[in-house]
Amino acid sequence: MRSKLVAGNWKMHGGTAQNQDLLRAIVAGTADLRGADFTVCVPYPYLSQAQTLLRDTHIRWGAQNVSQHDKGAYTGEVSAVMLMDFGCHYVIVGHSERRALYGEDSDTVALKFQAAQVAGLIPILCVGETLDQREADVTEQVVAAQLDAVIELAGVDALVKSILAYEPVWAIGTGKTATPGQAQDVHAFIRARIAAHSPKVAAGLQILYGGSVKANNAEELFAMTDIDGGLVGGASLVADEFVAICRAAKN
Ligand code: PEP
Repeated sequence: MRSKLVAGNWKMHGGTAQNQDLLRAIVAGTADLRGADFTVCVPYPYLSQAQTLLRDTHIRWGAQNVSQHDKGAYTGEVSAVMLMDFGCHYVIVGHSERRALYGEDSDTVALKFQAAQVAGLIPILCVGETLDQREADVTEQVVAAQLDAVIELAGVDALVKSILAYEPVWAIGTGKTATPGQAQDVHAFIRARIAAHSPKVAAGLQILYGGSVKANNAEELFAMTDIDGGLVGGASLVADEFVAICRAAKN
């Protein structure tokens, strides 16, 4: 049976003082929970702070992006080895904001996925369709193409040491959550597509749902057969909300 994972994506939010309060509250609020994993993906400048505050706790930390290159003249980029140096466990790759705002295509995302794994990080690979694509009934084609780019480059077995996150773009930061049924349908599609390559890899893969997950909808989303937790943006910045979502993953 797959365990659950709740990952917070702070995006470009935070500050040293508020991070300290938030991280301490998350550690304290989830201290009694066993059998599920919790992580926060923080902006690069706060990785050191996360490492200091979380290193002896049950909460892991990670980053929100990584370079596809290992070193060199890439001004402003951060390599996977550097993230390992700060104790990161996870890194988000292919978030829709990076795809849409920074022109990251699926081939680049696949390279980032691979670079992360080579260094020993667990990539959290985000896939998902826009509203136009959903309305044009091409959700499955879009998600399949995003997924296939990684499988073609890295091979299906690479998914063993990764996490997938289905994040419908129209549900991110909008307050519009996919219904549990809508999310389950896409999660089941993703799992079946991977099962066509390897039933074993598909059965073991954690697939998170992301898109306006809140304390009041987490439990019903996480109850679906193929939803193995959540990737949480806005609600991960509010300690009580995030803790309640973590608790929902444990129920
Ligand atoms: C995200 O940033 O990945 C996300 C799902 O954001 P939100 O929870 O705010 O919709």
